[in-house]
Amino acid sequence: MMILCVAEIRHGKLVSSIFELLTAAKAMGQPVAAAVVGGAAASAAADTLKGRGFEKVYVASHASLDGQSDEAYAHALKAIVAQAKPETVLLPASAQWRAVAPRLAVLLGTGLASDVIEATAGADKKVQVVRAAFGGNVLSKIAVKGSPAIVTVRPMSYTRTDASGSGAVENVAIAPAGWKVKTRVTGFAPEAATEVDLAAAEKVVSGGRGLGNPQGFELIRKLAQTLGAAVGASRATVDAGWIPYRHQVGLTGRTVRPRLYVACGISGQIQHLAGMSASDVIVAINTDKDCPMMKLANFAVHGDLNEIIPAIVAEVHKLRGEAPAMAGAKKAYCRASFSRNSAASAAAMPARASAVRMWRASCSARSRATPPTGRSTRSTSSST
Ligand SMILES: Cc1cc2nc3c(=O)[nH]c(=O)nc-3n(C[C@H](O)[C@H](O)[C@H](O)COP(=O)(O)OP(=O)(O)OC[C@H]3O[C@@H](n4cnc5c(N)ncnc54)[C@H](O)[C@@H]3O)c2cc1C
Repeated sequence: MMILCVAEIRHGKLVSSIFELLTAAKAMGQPVAAAVVGGAAASAAADTLKGRGFEKVYVASHASLDGQSDEAYAHALKAIVAQAKPETVLLPASAQWRAVAPRLAVLLGTGLASDVIEATAGADKKVQVVRAAFGGNVLSKIAVKGSPAIVTVRPMSYTRTDASGSGAVENVAIAPAGWKVKTRVTGFAPEAATEVDLAAAEKVVSGGRGLGNPQGFELIRKLAQTLGAAVGASRATVDAGWIPYRHQVGLTGRTVRPRLYVACGISGQIQHLAGMSASDVIVAINTDKDCPMMKLANFAVHGDLNEIIPAIVAEVHKLRGEAPAMAGAKKAYCRASFSRNSAASAAAMPARASAVRMWRASCSARSRATPPTGRSTRSTSSST
């Protein structure tokens, strides 16, 4: 039995989601191969993958696959499946492969489970998956009928495996002339984005209802820009129309797994935590010191975000020798109360050490935000 992980190539570059699929596949304890489909960039991507923990890398490369047609990709992948004969095919649940997966399932006459957050091998070695259903209110465990099982895996549901090895590349012959392809991609117009991509971000600064109004996201953007972070949001702010849905973190938004997550004015309801609790280091800024996010956080800053965020931004600029400080920074220095949730930090310290260093280096939060007036800091144990 073998698991085939499908690589995504976006704008000529291999996307790291393939290494998340590798983690999922390895956890199932079966041999793992990779599949690469595409135009000119496919062969180079396959060469990269052959030394990265896959026993074999199957590649279907043809100039006609440069246009990213879902139908053509499904046909090419069908040819790879015929040659590799996997028991399970794992694909990233990205915009591209979410569209290809059902077409592949129809071509193969087999079952599909989409957007899964966990995949395991059952007693019969067949894949069983967990996916969120009914808007995230239910987690369902699913067995897929048919072989191979087609499974799309939600981005960031797994860490990335950084393995080495020497798998062979095997070319798969394809005959695009015989495929029924009714669509052709004629161009790509990227959204004008000046912000860091949330899905792949190593640092995320998120805002919640505590921002008070849509303008509050200016503060979030300022802090995100300063730290080189992506902007995230709670569903409450998305539902209120303060920020587009693509920024939503949580069960019904994106799952993120950054080294640093800064939650500003977010209470930490379970649906939000579902999308970010795997972050290496969590910093919470909140006026309610007892809310779930403050308890989960490794570093809890108790106070008004309108004062604390400018203080952090000002401090980072100061450390870098840059001007100017934001208005209100001095007040924040006096009012914020900072605590480190030591139980959570200590338990995960080896994995989190670099992110902790990064956070300290970037804003010196611990020493600067501790109240200078003798106000006591809170030390809360928490679980992550
Ligand atoms: C099926 C379902 C799916 C859902 N999916 C998601 C999801 O994907 N993502 C998601 O986020 N939610 C989701 N939700 C909603 C979730 O249950 C919460 O309602 C939502 O996360 C709350 O957002 P919030 O923390 O911004 O707002 P609130 O819960 O209102 O919290 C606001 C916080 O701001 C703090 N605050 C107020 N003023 C300040 C200030 N000046 N400075 C600092 N702090 C301040 C308050 O103390 C409070 O903790 C879902 C709900 C359901 C039922």
